[in-house]
Amino acid sequence: MRVLIVEDSHMVSKVLKHLIVQELGYHVDIAPDMSCALTLLEQHQYFVVVADLNLPDASNGDIVRLVLSSYKTPCIVLTSNLDAHQRREILKLGIVDYIPKDNRYSYQYVVKLIDRLYRNQQVKVLVADDSVVSRKFVRMLLEHHLFQVLEANDGEEALEVLEREPDIQLLITDYNMPKIDGVELILRVREKYHREDIAIIGLSNDNDESLSAKFIKNGANDFLQKPFVHEEFHCRVLNTLDSLDMMRNLWAKANRDYLTKSYTRRYFFSQHDTKDSESGRLTVALLDIDFFKKINDTHGHDTGDQVLIEFAQRLENAFGANFTVARFGGEEFVIAFKGLDSTKASTLINKFREQCAANPINTSAGDLHVSFSCGVSTRENETLDHALQRADELLYQAKAAGRNQVMSQ
Ligand code: GH3
Ligand code: MG
Ligand code: MG
Repeated sequence: MRVLIVEDSHMVSKVLKHLIVQELGYHVDIAPDMSCALTLLEQHQYFVVVADLNLPDASNGDIVRLVLSSYKTPCIVLTSNLDAHQRREILKLGIVDYIPKDNRYSYQYVVKLIDRLYRNQQVKVLVADDSVVSRKFVRMLLEHHLFQVLEANDGEEALEVLEREPDIQLLITDYNMPKIDGVELILRVREKYHREDIAIIGLSNDNDESLSAKFIKNGANDFLQKPFVHEEFHCRVLNTLDSLDMMRNLWAKANRDYLTKSYTRRYFFSQHDTKDSESGRLTVALLDIDFFKKINDTHGHDTGDQVLIEFAQRLENAFGANFTVARFGGEEFVIAFKGLDSTKASTLINKFREQCAANPINTSAGDLHVSFSCGVSTRENETLDHALQRADELLYQAKAAGRNQVMSQ
């Protein structure tokens, strides 16, 4: 990833380059003036250009206009103080953001912004608004920040798009729309998606002063009154996505195991209510790695950890897309096969067992052959705990019968 800094102050470009290289590991080129910048822009493809508005051989943002029009590269502008008119003019050009050079946090902000831009490329944003003009305007602002943008003409269409594209991270919705309005849309979305799944920003040009609170009380993260300035829009979107990231991190810390990143035991039980015995067919499998203690004793605890990480990854790859895989503790894992009987689940696990046997785990102590034993049991009008108990007994039998096998009932 390559960044170009166009800046005549040696001090500024040096500090900025240092931070970008250190924190993001990107390659950084420096051009002290416009002609040098042009030469570099002809030679390389840049992810983003960070440019001073006034250069020895160019003033009034000529460099910015050129970068945006001829090279279609996102541009972050470094400025000294701007008056209100200059600020509006520069924002109109379609830059990512402008950053005043006058304080020491500015540089950190540039780094954060570049990192955010990089990640935005993977972030899908859905814009629901019945006004084409308004939708296109929001799309344009989002595209300046490299987001993937999807559009919906009303609340109903928005729900369809969400169904089709479950990895949308941000919904920006207008209030007044035909069929389903913005607040109703948010209510419906929040029935299905938690706050760590999707963030929502409400928009409206309605003069109703209670609307912002109404949006937020019904599950929006933030609200913007139309018409808004570019800058406010970007700040709110970035803040909202920062808090989404934070929620997701917290959620992962609570529900994913620190070492293997598998789901925790706690998450497993939260997904499969232990008291509910009537919610459809469920088969559980308990897997335990054979002679795992020997791996620790022979090669050390770190190697044991590497085996656990790889084993968990293999389980996730094999079953994670359709079933819940969790680390139950130590070298023991559980899989919930919703909708399958013991025979089908056992067939899948035996296939996985054979693949494991054929592919030793690569560790820093060399390739290690790792096998596991497994007990499989289907819940029959009883609690999940009963089924797990039986799976545990079967696992014990599999161990006693010589390990590296699946016992089912
Ligand atoms: P068996 O075939 O009967 O299952 O024998 P085993 O050695 O696999 O089982 P045992 O229960 O005797 O030993 C499990 C070991 O797993 C003991 C414990 O120190 C180790 N262990 C538990 N959690 C971790 C971990 O997070 N990392 C590592 N490296 N070892 C762990
Ligand atoms: Mg074991
Ligand atoms: Mg064990």
